[in-house]
Amino acid sequence: MSDLPRLLRTLETLPGLSATKSEWRLRTGDAYPLMADLLKPTGHIDDRMPCISPLLGLHYHSVHEYDDGTAEAVFLDDTHDCSSFPVERHERAVMTPDMAGFCRRICLALGLDPETEGLSLPRGIYEVGCYYPLESFRFTVVLALKPTAVEAEESLHAVAALRDGPFVFLTATPTRFSDRSAHLITARNVLARALIQCLLVSENTLASTKSWSADIAAFRDKVVPKSGPVMAFFPTPPRTPWADVTIRFVDGYTVFVNAAGVTQRLSYTEMGMANRRESKPSKQWEFFYEIAENHGAIDFDMGNARKNKSWKYELSSDLRSFFHIKDDPFIYDESTGCWQVRFRLIPIQDL
Ligand SMILES: [Zn+2]
Repeated sequence: MSDLPRLLRTLETLPGLSATKSEWRLRTGDAYPLMADLLKPTGHIDDRMPCISPLLGLHYHSVHEYDDGTAEAVFLDDTHDCSSFPVERHERAVMTPDMAGFCRRICLALGLDPETEGLSLPRGIYEVGCYYPLESFRFTVVLALKPTAVEAEESLHAVAALRDGPFVFLTATPTRFSDRSAHLITARNVLARALIQCLLVSENTLASTKSWSADIAAFRDKVVPKSGPVMAFFPTPPRTPWADVTIRFVDGYTVFVNAAGVTQRLSYTEMGMANRRESKPSKQWEFFYEIAENHGAIDFDMGNARKNKSWKYELSSDLRSFFHIKDDPFIYDESTGCWQVRFRLIPIQDL
């Protein structure tokens, strides 16, 4: 059993997240190595040193500096006695964790994406990264380190005011939410969890618990729409550029799609390119088919010269919304004077 809960509670309760190394060690016990390499000096020197005794628990000794440059930590108390001990100056350095580094460690353990948006959050709330299951589905993950439930709750509302839609709200230890907050959590599809429930220590590093895996899967089910018989969009992996997309025509009505390793066989209807009234392929689909036959180039003289420009515009918009890729899927090639697809487009092949 590791002291991870002690470490997490320390993060919530240690004022200013600052203390000497020896105090960090005393407060976090066996979990100290999980944090030790993240501790950085604040530039301050402490005038008191922590000490633990069976009688007094955690208490502090005052540092007395002597003329010869040495120093001693002395316990000043009329009723109890505790021996003084020598202190080196480096032991008095006040240390605070590199929170960006700690957040990256949480992302790694919980399978989150470490990319942040640089949100300007109130003190004690950290942007951990994001949950980014598919392109254009990106949910901010924050961590609120607050000593009381009331403050944790204020943090939840502060983040909800800054962000639209669902997000992941982490605290270090469990907190009791009021009805008002429970309502917000339900209404906004917030995943609110304590790190204590999500993290465990495995081989001296942080890893995720089974309950986290279940929680994030349930969150995904709630916030990412599923594809139905008529697909509204392709499950494009995050940050996929057009260059990683291949579309191959299988026949006049079907394509085989590969977007960064995710593959699907789709009909024109599933790609949202059916003419609604007749459920026949739309003009954009036919235009798309011709572009494939023309090796991915749009020659404005092909097909219907008068309509080509608007079809290119509509096809571009159809493809962007289907794949959730923001860039234009076509690029203008000055050497040929044609628009060219930026993905691999393969016409029907004779096998
Ligand atoms: Zn003592």
